[in-house]
Amino acid sequence: MAQKKTIEEEEILLPQHMPVLVLRGLVLFPDMVLHFDVAREKSVLALNHAMSEGRKIFLVAQKDISVDEPEMKDLYTVGVVAEIKQVIRAKDESLRVVVDGKERAKLVSMTEEEAFFMGYIEPMPLQQKNKKKELSVALLRTVKDLFEEYSQMVPQMPRELVKAIMVTRNYKEICEPIIRNIPLKYEDKQEILEESDILKRLEMLVVILNRENEILSIENDIHERVKDQIDKHQREYYLREQIKAINSELPDGEGSASEIENYRERLIKLEMGIQSTTKLLKEIDRLEKMPYNSQEASVIRSYLDTIMELPWNVYTKDKIDIQKARTFLDKEHFGLVKVKERIIESLAVRKLAPDIKGQIICLVGPPGVGKTSIVRSIAQSMGRNYVRLSLGGVRDESDIRGHRRTYIASMPGRIINAVKQAGSSNPLMLLDEIDKLGNDFRGDPSSALLEVLDGEQNNTFRDHYLEIPYDLSNVFFIATANNLQGIPRPLLDRMEIIQLGSYTREEKFNIAKKHLVPKQLKRHGITGRQLQIDSNALYDIVDFYTKEAGVRTLERLIATIARKRAVQLVGNETGCKALVNTKGLEKYLGPHKFKNDDICVEDQIGVVNGLAWTSVGGEMLQVEVAIMEGSGKNRSTGSLGDVMKESIQAATTYIRGVAGNYGIDITFYKTKDIHIHFPEGAVPKDGPSAGIATCTALVSALSGIPVRHDIAMTGEITLRGRVLPIGGLREKTMAAYKYGMKTVIIPKANIADLEEVEQIVKDNITFIPAEDIETVLKHALVTDK
Ligand code: ADP
Repeated sequence: MAQKKTIEEEEILLPQHMPVLVLRGLVLFPDMVLHFDVAREKSVLALNHAMSEGRKIFLVAQKDISVDEPEMKDLYTVGVVAEIKQVIRAKDESLRVVVDGKERAKLVSMTEEEAFFMGYIEPMPLQQKNKKKELSVALLRTVKDLFEEYSQMVPQMPRELVKAIMVTRNYKEICEPIIRNIPLKYEDKQEILEESDILKRLEMLVVILNRENEILSIENDIHERVKDQIDKHQREYYLREQIKAINSELPDGEGSASEIENYRERLIKLEMGIQSTTKLLKEIDRLEKMPYNSQEASVIRSYLDTIMELPWNVYTKDKIDIQKARTFLDKEHFGLVKVKERIIESLAVRKLAPDIKGQIICLVGPPGVGKTSIVRSIAQSMGRNYVRLSLGGVRDESDIRGHRRTYIASMPGRIINAVKQAGSSNPLMLLDEIDKLGNDFRGDPSSALLEVLDGEQNNTFRDHYLEIPYDLSNVFFIATANNLQGIPRPLLDRMEIIQLGSYTREEKFNIAKKHLVPKQLKRHGITGRQLQIDSNALYDIVDFYTKEAGVRTLERLIATIARKRAVQLVGNETGCKALVNTKGLEKYLGPHKFKNDDICVEDQIGVVNGLAWTSVGGEMLQVEVAIMEGSGKNRSTGSLGDVMKESIQAATTYIRGVAGNYGIDITFYKTKDIHIHFPEGAVPKDGPSAGIATCTALVSALSGIPVRHDIAMTGEITLRGRVLPIGGLREKTMAAYKYGMKTVIIPKANIADLEEVEQIVKDNITFIPAEDIETVLKHALVTDK
């Protein structure tokens, strides 16, 4: 920093008379070297004059830089006396001047002489009004801090200057070097120049530095942001150019922009909601940036394809006409009155309140009783698309809900697949065999299914693969099951169960005649004239070739006949008749498969007709007991063996109590071996309901009293000989009717179930309700012999 006299030492200069040079937009300070060009004639003359008169000149700024010919009034009054160091003449008559500022001075008056200004000037030394030391120290520190901050934001600030300022302790001399080195408006500089009080100048500097720092930091921010923006744009531009270059190397169409655009356009058309669309747009963006053949790109591509193939917002219009639906269902299916009625009710409710989600219907019944096919008819009668989803063997939650995309070859779950297959977002979806859902260590699919069926949640069903929600709330779900016990409890609570029983012989005959035969003829391209199956032949098929609750085998056998008949027709075989009767049946289907002749036709000792409920419906099975001399051992054989052990024990205990009444040797349990046999075909579940039959057979065998051959029975037994209720009465009695039984003994507690029993069965069979085994024995044993 230049050495300068202190203010106290400053000699008081007398007013001087010297040429005045008006600066435009520049302010000179003492101790400052300034270069500038001079072009105005007045200025050139003033300079020339000064050069010849001791090189001293007074430099003062004009207030408004746009004024070309300034007068006294246009000038500030405070300026600087300078010494002219150099004047160089430039080509265009202008002069380049170097001046060195000396003293601050005030223009007192001015005269225009020889076409330039001469001024009377008065020196203006600096002063300090407030002598308080703390104030000056505080101001010095503040200025230093602010300047340091400033210089950090302006990297081109000379290091030496910064250093010098930071170390100085002279608050009187800190102002001007700073002012000289920061770009300020000339008005600001002039303002400081005009201020004579040293501390006031510092205060002004604080304000200026503060303002400048603020502006600089905002500027820096803006720069950073702009730079980021530019960087990002440049990066993207660069990447896009690269992709273009790659694409141009690839065969036509591949990875081309059109594929991406195509995805975007298709996506927008699907109108699937802001969030999902944004997510998918991101995926498309990712795809765009990937090499075409990369594995990841193909994963995204198949993801997008899967999503776009789904029927977003595609809805079929329901056409619910109760009369027509009723006629249609009647036309397609024989019987099934209860199911049809329930379906009609459900349709009616849907018509009145389409938005209210009712309970899910679940049709429960043995195989082949028309569960699946009636659901298909419902879909047709409502005008909905139909899709069947088989749940048999589904063990894993991800079967229902899909695999996350992190797996290679991951896929959506079955529900979403079914929707895709259906082609609309409101299909009728049949959840087939819901009782066969697995539930083991691999996961619990029923909880996922629960969410699917829950009307509160299923409008945003989330498949793991899709990742975006899909609205299932308009899907009409109907479930089917063979067995109520197999349905997971939480699902069961959510469903309304409609039970379908086995068909009677007559029903099977009617279904065959009215539906199965015409259907199979049509399927085989055979007309009604080319093949007729007469009624007796149909009954024979039902009786001797099938053993089932439904009509599946029956339908298959009719198809067999149709197939064989087709061969005859095409092969022009002669001597074959269009009419199939009982005699001709064997030619098509071979010898009878099931015969009723294993049923005893006379009363026997130790043989009782028991009734069981099996997977093929009701069945009549004979329980046989044989007694041998021995040492009191019990043996049981046949499929119910193990389960029956306890029933046998119970029966034996009971018989020991009543042995006397039937002439049974009281020591039988020590001296006789007992062998009980249950024929194959029964299932363990039926074990207990054969309790009274077992007991009756035992009493008969031990007492030698025969059992009536035309009586059948079902019921559980307790140690005290009470008879407990059983299930499946309808099916069991149907079997009894089929085998020509006249009387059936049932538990008294089952009387209410008689309502379910077929009319034809009731007409032909006498039911005896029994509360205890005493009653059973009274009716079953032929005691009068
Ligand atoms: P489920 O689903 O109960 O196992 P399906 O619906 O597959 O049984 O029925 C088997 C076949 O029997 C189908 O061809 C069906 O059309 C026919 N069928 C069953 N019940 C009837 C009925 N009541 N009327 C007409 N056809 C029937």
